Amino acid sequence: MGLKNFFERKKIEGVDNTMYLTLREERRISKENNRIIKYYERQKARKNVPEEEYLTQMRDPNNVVEFDNLHTYFFTDVGTVKSVNGVTFDVPIGKTVGMVGESGCGKSVTSLSLMQLVQAPTGQIVEGSIRYQAGDGKCYDIPKVPKDRMLKLRGKEISMIFQEPMTSLNPVFRIGEQMDEVILLHEEGATPEIAKERSIAMLKSVGIPMPDKIYTKYPHELSGGMRQRVMIAMALLCNPRLIIADEPTTALDVTIQAQILELLREVKERINGSIMLITHDLGVIAEMADLVVVMYAGRIIEKGTVREIFHDPKHPYTIGLMRSKPSGKLKDNRLYSIKGQVPNPINMPDHCYFLNRCDMAMDICHGEYPKMIQYSPTHFAACYLCGESSFPKNDLAKE
Ligand code: SF4
Repeated sequence: MGLKNFFERKKIEGVDNTMYLTLREERRISKENNRIIKYYERQKARKNVPEEEYLTQMRDPNNVVEFDNLHTYFFTDVGTVKSVNGVTFDVPIGKTVGMVGESGCGKSVTSLSLMQLVQAPTGQIVEGSIRYQAGDGKCYDIPKVPKDRMLKLRGKEISMIFQEPMTSLNPVFRIGEQMDEVILLHEEGATPEIAKERSIAMLKSVGIPMPDKIYTKYPHELSGGMRQRVMIAMALLCNPRLIIADEPTTALDVTIQAQILELLREVKERINGSIMLITHDLGVIAEMADLVVVMYAGRIIEKGTVREIFHDPKHPYTIGLMRSKPSGKLKDNRLYSIKGQVPNPINMPDHCYFLNRCDMAMDICHGEYPKMIQYSPTHFAACYLCGESSFPKNDLAKE
């Protein structure tokens, strides 16, 4: 049965299909989780792992990251939550990939998997690979990289800008101390003086006035926009190849949002890096992204270039997202909303996850989960609605 969760087994065994758990069942889940979690934690704690075990080859050398059939699960006492359930997409060098989808669809967990920051021990990457092409030319399979090696990649090669800078910056340390630490940790031979000089120069380069004064301030002494600029400056200190921006403008007001987006764009050009941009805001995606990945309930339901997703969406969920954008033409003065709710993540159905919310559902949708269909070299969608595409299949359509 492998990693099938308790409710899936109940269904297979024909016991029942309810969410009710007896005390005995809860204990059984907990025992089983402990066994699985211990296995993954032991793997991660191994020391002196030979490089051959975690070095691999990129499928396409033009990509900086390749997610390949990634599965990240959370083993909770009431069952297994499949937060990321078979995600496959690439981040090309020098491009911005936007990830959209409603809360809980797995966007952030996908990016945290890449940083090896999924909350352990309950959260574990159980299957698939994330190939990362580092600046030294080596290609790492991130889920297999040991903790000590990951410390050298995280923050230096891959950095992250979080949604709420007030909770991401440490409130008891001055801005300068927090920035210097990044340089002292990652740059060989860096002295406190060099670190200070570089931190102040970086604060200046992200448009912070009087950077030497800001360097000595605590996070609570700065405005939201300033704090987010500090976060961006911190993320850039070691010239990363990939920046993960997890809703970088959600906590900011509209005028500051525009400035931060402009700064991100400018920074990307300057370092010729790639950005993984996670957001709910389709306006931000339209402005910033080259490629778009649409996620729903832990799976990718559509991906393509920004033009394909905005002008020719295939999946009813993507179509719904496009219709729910505020625009000048509103029917009955009301904004469109996608009815219903995402299915229970612990007990996902076997059919299309969007079935209970889909206005276009057909009989076939009650069968097995639809396969990814390719419509162009870059455009894919998982829906029965459009049938088989005439585009020749390639191995990207395997999801
Ligand atoms: Fe709707 Fe069927 Fe497509 Fe699912 S597969 S989104 S239910 S049309």
